[in-house]
Amino acid sequence: MPLFDFHTHTTISDGHAAPLVMAGRCRDNGYAAYVCSDHVDEASVERRVPQIVEACRMVESELGLPAVPAVEVTRVPPDRVAVVAARARSLGARLVVVHGETLGDFPQPGLNLAAARCPDVDILGHPGLISDQAAEAARENGIHLEISAAGLHGLTNGHVAKVALRLGVSLVLDSDAHRPEALLTVERSRQLLQGSGLDLEEVLKVAQGSPLRVLARRGIAIPQSVPSD
Ligand SMILES: [Zn+2]
Ligand SMILES: [Zn+2]
Repeated sequence: MPLFDFHTHTTISDGHAAPLVMAGRCRDNGYAAYVCSDHVDEASVERRVPQIVEACRMVESELGLPAVPAVEVTRVPPDRVAVVAARARSLGARLVVVHGETLGDFPQPGLNLAAARCPDVDILGHPGLISDQAAEAARENGIHLEISAAGLHGLTNGHVAKVALRLGVSLVLDSDAHRPEALLTVERSRQLLQGSGLDLEEVLKVAQGSPLRVLARRGIAIPQSVPSD
């Protein structure tokens, strides 16, 4: 089963390993593609998105692993999320994650709802105690809610899964890895999804179906591998 993971960090922001190191571990773990989604805000988006795009180009040429430039819009006030997401996309980010109202941080009230209403957003990352209103907005806009493998961000995975199943919102599992050891494996993915309260049928749907829907929504095709130089 090919693995997908739309939320990883590198030394371009606060990660502990360079993109090539993260991508190398992704390849070893059986990832179908490498997605680099470093943090951006209004001050850093102009500088970091071109770095992310270049890192993905390098991963494809050095490792032969398909690579998708993305961002995590982080610590941006709710009323500026759409501006930063659109700017990231215009600079070359193909997927946009938003750093949601996690209990592992100091959530900004209104952030989940602002992200869920923004058509440039693909994944509402670690959305904490997400409200029905925000979850319904996410469903209407085709935005996936994230089950997080990352420490405190995962505290509310059970709540997120419960709300998503009740309201028919799609879930996706991401590592939010800041170092290679934190990247997903097939076994760990299954454990994390089961631990969020999903039954085996739902686990399969989230592990296999959701990533393909995230990619299809943006017309991103993942080849088996890309020719390396
Ligand atoms: Zn985050
Ligand atoms: Zn993150």
